[in-house]
Amino acid sequence: MRELVKCAREYDLKIHVDGARIFNAAVACKVDVKELVQGVDSVQFCLTKGLGAPMGSLLVGSQEFISRAGKWRKMLGGGFRQIGIMTAAGIVALETMIDRLEEDHMRAKKLALGLNELPYLSVCVDEVETNIVIVEIIPELITMKEFLAKLAENGIKAKDIGPTKVRFVTHKEINEDDINFVIERLSPKNTALNSSYEI
Ligand SMILES: *Cc1c(COP(=O)(O)O)cnc(C)c1O
Repeated sequence: MRELVKCAREYDLKIHVDGARIFNAAVACKVDVKELVQGVDSVQFCLTKGLGAPMGSLLVGSQEFISRAGKWRKMLGGGFRQIGIMTAAGIVALETMIDRLEEDHMRAKKLALGLNELPYLSVCVDEVETNIVIVEIIPELITMKEFLAKLAENGIKAKDIGPTKVRFVTHKEINEDDINFVIERLSPKNTALNSSYEI
């Protein structure tokens, strides 16, 4: 970030940070979020996602910038007059959700390690730094359709993000037992695999 800021300044450019998950990034990097956005002009971040509020994103910047952004929001129909009830949830998110993100990261790591042990799945465990776990199925052993059906039948919500990839995300509502449940339910003793393929 320091290099980017320096480079942008040299060319007289502004920097906007698309920081939807910046608090997860800050916690994973063990730095204050202020340090991650030092010297930038504007930042967007989500109160939803890791911070768990029911809705809302914030745009942060200079007063002049925010006042212009407000006009654009109005032109695009994004105004919301009765937003107080949601900003209350946003304050709870900012005050109580940031320090616990580390838990989500630890659970994601545990999930990654557990799923990587299963013969029909593969996970780059080292790449799991925050609350997102990308799991690759081994299509010779299980098809995507079968895997997604297996997840659905156990009430496990995860999203296919490619022909062989499924994304799992941990958050405040996912506890230690849930992680154990997922690993247990997906173990080969509970999952029919293509038996014609030798492991
Ligand atoms: C989710 C996301 C957004 C959009 O955030 P909203 O809260 O839907 O406005 C933008 N950028 C990135 C990288 C995101 O993950």
